[in-house]
Amino acid sequence: MSAPSINKALLEKLEKIPTPEGLIRELMQHFGNRAAIVTSGQLTGMVTIDMAVQAGFKPRVVTIDTLRLFQETYELLDEIEKHYHLKIERIKPDPQKLQKMISEHGTFLFFDSKEKQEMCCHIRKVEPNNRILDTLDVWFTGLRADQSAARARVSRLEIIQHGPDKRSILKVAPLVDWTEEKLRTYIKKNKVPTHKLLNWNKDGWYYESLGCVICTTPIGPTESRRAGRWRWFQDDSVKECGIHPLQGDGEGI
Ligand code: SF4
Repeated sequence: MSAPSINKALLEKLEKIPTPEGLIRELMQHFGNRAAIVTSGQLTGMVTIDMAVQAGFKPRVVTIDTLRLFQETYELLDEIEKHYHLKIERIKPDPQKLQKMISEHGTFLFFDSKEKQEMCCHIRKVEPNNRILDTLDVWFTGLRADQSAARARVSRLEIIQHGPDKRSILKVAPLVDWTEEKLRTYIKKNKVPTHKLLNWNKDGWYYESLGCVICTTPIGPTESRRAGRWRWFQDDSVKECGIHPLQGDGEGI
């Protein structure tokens, strides 16, 4: 059975599927290994994996190993592999480009300016993510609308153009409208493995998102949800790494 074309007609058909489980099942059934869950260890990624496994699939799961992840992230990846009996694809930055960047700008270039932070994110995250997209027709992300004002505009289903030939890829955020509470209820009920840092809470401070060490910090009770990323930049609207262009029409990470 050949996979359906990624076009408006498919989008309209998929929009009629109300549940994330139904959407995951439909897409994995038709696209097989051309569909993958790309996760950094957030709750949404874990729930998506669990839903796919419960639907009877051995999903393709991919992560970007920036080589600067928390030890707890590496532990979670190992735990997922064990729990679901699957092998996570760990995509790393290009070693030559990484070495060149570090020798020219230093390991901690992201402190210097927004441009250098974006350069670091491009080499460690965006470029590896593009290599993943080269192999995909359906990209499952863990984006949620309540993560920031910029992310409030995220669609559940979106067709993006990828690569020099502008090939269409279906970008899917199956849990876009789920709240943290709903995710945690599902996780508890289904005994889904979770990232240790997402269960950490000290005097109301907690980790809202997961990324690289130093660039990711806990947020306080009254702070915005993206406040913990790149604390030395003040404006939340610029707190994205470039994987998910959220301005205009446009995960995570
Ligand atoms: S989050 Fe920080 S260390 Fe990680 S890729 Fe971006 S700038 Fe570099």
